[in-house]
Amino acid sequence: MSQGRAEVDVMAKEKAYGYKCLSCGKDVDIDLQKAKKIICPYCGYRILEKKRPPVTRRVTAR
Ligand SMILES: [Zn+2]
Repeated sequence: MSQGRAEVDVMAKEKAYGYKCLSCGKDVDIDLQKAKKIICPYCGYRILEKKRPPVTRRVTAR
């Protein structure tokens, strides 16, 4: 009866991840807790691709 909380910690780790600018292709670190806008500091482009969180997920190849 005390189980069922394990799945929460996957989402809880999501805070500052790297982004990649879709315009200049640079890697940008944005701390979403501080920054309210997601904008590339290099070129000012506002569309950044969120990189995947470092979760190792294996796909079984067969
Ligand atoms: Zn850029």
